[in-house]
Parts: sequence; C-alpha cells; structure tokens
Amino acid sequence: MKNTLLLVDDEPNILKSLSRVFDEEGYEIFTAGSPEEALDLLKNQNVDVIISDQRMPTMTGSEFLSRVKKQYPDTIRMILSGYADFNAIQSAINEGSIYKFLNKPWDNDELKKNVYEAFKQHTLNMKHKEQEQELTVLLKFDKLTGLLNRFSFIQSLTDAIQPEDKETTSFALMLIDIQHLSQINNEFGQEFGDQIILEISNRLKIWADPSYLISRLGGDEFAIVIFTDIKNKKFLETTIVELCSFLRQPFNINDSKIIVGSNLGISLYPTDANTSDPLIKCAKLALLKNQAEAGKDCQFYDVSLEKGITTSIQLETDLHQALEKNEFRLLYQPMVNQSGYIMGVEALLRWNHSKHGILSPDKFLSIAETTGLILPIGKWVLQTAIKQLKIWHDMGYSELQVAVNISANQFRDPNLYQYVSDALKTFNISPTCLILEITETLIMNNIEINTTLLKSLREIGVKIAMDDFGTGYSSLKYLNTLPINILKIDQSFVREMLHSKNTADIVITIIALGKNLNLAVLAEGVETKEQQDFLINNHCELLQGYLFSSPDKASEITKKLLQQFRI
Ligand code: C2E
Ligand code: CA
Ligand code: CA
Repeated sequence: MKNTLLLVDDEPNILKSLSRVFDEEGYEIFTAGSPEEALDLLKNQNVDVIISDQRMPTMTGSEFLSRVKKQYPDTIRMILSGYADFNAIQSAINEGSIYKFLNKPWDNDELKKNVYEAFKQHTLNMKHKEQEQELTVLLKFDKLTGLLNRFSFIQSLTDAIQPEDKETTSFALMLIDIQHLSQINNEFGQEFGDQIILEISNRLKIWADPSYLISRLGGDEFAIVIFTDIKNKKFLETTIVELCSFLRQPFNINDSKIIVGSNLGISLYPTDANTSDPLIKCAKLALLKNQAEAGKDCQFYDVSLEKGITTSIQLETDLHQALEKNEFRLLYQPMVNQSGYIMGVEALLRWNHSKHGILSPDKFLSIAETTGLILPIGKWVLQTAIKQLKIWHDMGYSELQVAVNISANQFRDPNLYQYVSDALKTFNISPTCLILEITETLIMNNIEINTTLLKSLREIGVKIAMDDFGTGYSSLKYLNTLPINILKIDQSFVREMLHSKNTADIVITIIALGKNLNLAVLAEGVETKEQQDFLINNHCELLQGYLFSSPDKASEITKKLLQQFRI
C-alpha cells in the first residue's frame, strides 16, 4: 500500500508548491483548503501523515490537529508555519497532538527528509500496534482449550459486578477441580492428560448456556459463572446435578475408557461476597471442603467453612518474629547472556522456620502481604542483596547486577524511593547495578502513581524489570509508556513453547515487541538445552533457569562466577 500524505493550507498556491515537493517521492497526496475539508476527507480516506498550516481563517492548525489526534490517533501530525507561532502551539506539542514543527519558507530537501522520517515513524508505530493486538488476543485464552484464561476470566468476572447492576445481577461462581490429574499425567503421559482436559472443556461447553463464562484457571482447575436468579435454588441445583453426571461419564481416549472424578465448590453473588476476589475465595473454600468430604457432588459456600484455616494463623504469629530471629535467607539465581556470561543474579527469599524448615515464598508471602510485614521484610531483602553485591563487586565482578523482587504493598510504601537510594549510597553501589522486578498487575492497579515512582527510580539509574510478563495481558497497551528496561517472559510460556505452536508464537512476539521498544528480554524457567536453543535462535537476549543454576547460596554463586557458564 502507498504511503498517504495530506496537506492542509488555506492558500491554494502554497498547497500547489508543497505538493510539487513530493512529486517524485511516490506518496499518494491529498490536499485540503481548510480544516473542515480535511476532516471531511479523513472520514473516507486513510491518511498516514498530515502537514497543516498554523494560521487558517476558521481554525488554527494546532486546534485542527488536536481534533485529528482524538479521532485518528495513528496519524503523524506536523505543523508548517512561517510565523513565530511556536509558543502558541507549545501545548499542542506537549499533549502529543503535534509530532514536529516545520518552518516556512521551507527547504525542499529538509522537508522531504522530515516527511520521510514521519512515514518511518508511522510504520514503526503501526507495527508495534499490530504486535500488541496480536499478543493481546493470544494472551486472552487458554492455549490448550481455547477457554478464557485466569486473567481474562477475572477481568470478565469483575466486569460482571458493575455497581449499577448490583440490584439486578446475581450469579453463581463454580470452581471445578479435576481429581488425580497429576497421577494421570505421570501414569499415561502429559498428552493423555491434555486430552482429558480437552474433553472436559468440551463437555463444559456442551452443557453450558452461551451466557455463562467458562475458564480454565490453570492446570486442573476450571471456573464457571452461571448467570441466574440465585433465589431459584432449584434451578441451580438441577443444573449442577446435570453437569456432575455429565462429567462422570467415562472418557474414551486412545481406546481406553477412563472415569475421572471432579470436585465442585460454589459461591453466590451477591449473597456470599460482592467483589471478585472474596467471591473466588469463598468458592475455593467450598471446593476444599468438597475435596475433604468424599461422596458429595458439590459444596455451596457457607460461613462455617471459615474455621478450618488455623495453620496460616500460626505461621502469621511466627512471621512477626522471623526478622528479629534472623530467620530469613537470600538465595541468588544467575541471569546469563547468550554466551553464558552471568550479567546478574536475582535475589530470592527463603524463611528458615524453626519447626517447618526452609519455606519458599509461596508459603508465607501472602501472609506477609496481608499483615504488612512485607515492608520490613522487603527492606531487609533489598539491603541484604545490595550488601552481598558489594562483596562481589569488591572481588572484581564490578559489573554484576542484582535483581530484587518488589511486591505490590512495598510499591505503595512512600519510603521505598528513599531506602533504595540510601542503601545504594551506604554500600557505594551504582544504581545501574540494581534491578527492581515488578509484576504487570502491580503497575496496572495504579498506573499513574506507579509510573511516577518508577520514573524517579529510573532517573537515578535503577533498572526496572517487568516480571512474569505475559500473565497479565492488560498492561500491553501501556507498555511503551512505562519506564521499564527488561521484560521477563513468564516461565509458563517457556515450559510450553516447545509443545505448543501458539505458545511459541507468543514467545517470539514478546521478543519482537521487546526489541521494538528497546527493552532487553529475559526468559525465565529455562530448564533444557532445547529451550535454550529455541530462545537463542529467536534472539532472546537473556536466560535464567535451572539449566544454568537453581537459586543458590551466595558462596556457591561466587564459585559459579569464577567459572561462568558455557553455551
Ligand atoms: P519469580 O520472581 O517469578 O521467581 C522465579 C521463581 O521461579 C523462583 O521461585 C525460582 O526459584 C523459580 N525458578 C527459577 N528457575 C526455574 C526453572 O528453571 N524452573 C522452575 N520450575 N522454576 C524456576 P521462588 O524462589 O519459590 O519464588 C517464588 C516467587 O516469590 C518469585 O517468583 C517472586 O515473585 C516471589 N519472591 C521471591 N523472593 C521475593 C522477595 O524477596 N520479595 C518479594 N516481594 N517477592 C519474592
Ligand atoms: Ca522475579
Ligand atoms: Ca517471574
């Protein structure tokens, strides 16, 4: 397709000589003698680049271009003016309505060059947009079943609970867990397990009304929203009994007949909870109860289920003292470049609990988050990691970087910026050697405040990595406005990319997107040589995973620094 250029000026002879400048450039050129005429033309004509005069009788060029920006944001818009109009259009430039200010009278070559560059920018923007759209679609659905994945399901669930609908909306949220799937995988192979998942998803689709939301949350877990009048318990119960007997029918897979059990937990909106997270928690509690008590088809949530959660309370009590008792440890995991050179290490937290032994973050992080203990713990992690980095720098690995995970609540802590910069100063570490890892969902929850905080950290040179990238697709559209340096492709993609074409495409697109935005791309969870080769062949810059090293004590990392890795 030809590049299209629109020229707008109220003086016909200027329009003529302007058009002549581009005679030989091969663009398709449109002209308009007024902003109104131009706006009319834009309704039917796709235009890439616009050059507009500033002083026109009915509307200034900057007003005109602001309007165009609103309706046709993809256009590249430039002002051509002979007067010292720069101040008058400053605000239009600042708000992004104007890409460039060009001087009248113009120099032909200069003008051609500017327009050439504008087209180049346009092509780049379009390519970037296309990649984002592609990725957004790819990331919305579960790769195996085509059902909504966890993130888009939670988003749809949240959308279903719009405040204005509170009076009229009611629904049941059902969680389904397939029994013994991991045993089935072990015994018959992953492919067999996948077929079962697919067959179950087909049964759910056949059973469900088109209005229901169906999702595979992950692994062996499905979720369904049944829109219905929940006061009509009879209908709900019949529907669920139907589903249960349908799921109990034997599966015919590769000539074998197999019966797969499932557990169901159900919560009701709005009676049990009126926001998505608590609603899911209620259904989850019901599901756990259903799993514990064999023999029942399904379990509805009720408050008495809340009593069973005592172990986490004990852990919470212990967690309060863990810092004082010096029970936290940091392990480090190398991040390597394509030649196996360790460019940095990620600090990963462990809790050496006096009774339970070494605990991973998944056992205690959510407690730390809800109790606010994550703030002092997070501060300790940061200081300890920087102190250790100083030791490595002093040994001669002076370019080594350390990555520290920052959680949502830490991010809301107004002191974060201060203690990060203090810690760097105390140990005389260059900010460029510190990487803060944050997750997509974290930024999304408060995009403006977070962007400001990120920017101020970036200004002093601290690097920002977006962790678990791809699992929270909603931030894609903000990606080019966020001050980040590194994209970390979530390990779930790396795990599946060699088995699923779709996932391989996602990985390749993320790498391309990163390149386009000038970001370094790191793949997490690299476990095999085949995964490494695939990633390197597709130009992924950085790798991390068990293939190189699992998270390890600082002293072990020191040995690995001496040897480095070979790829
Ligand atoms: P993450 O940031 O995504 O960290 C990567 C996790 O993947 C780590 O789990 C790591 O041990 C594991 N891993 C690394 N390579 C491989 C591999 O090749 N295969 C597989 N299957 N797994 C691999 P870990 O240490 O249990 O940490 C879990 C999560 O806890 C982290 O996920 C991070 O979100 C959080 N976390 C860890 N340390 C901290 C911390 O100091 N502060 C905060 N706020 N969060 C932390
Ligand atoms: Ca991380
Ligand atoms: Ca991660």
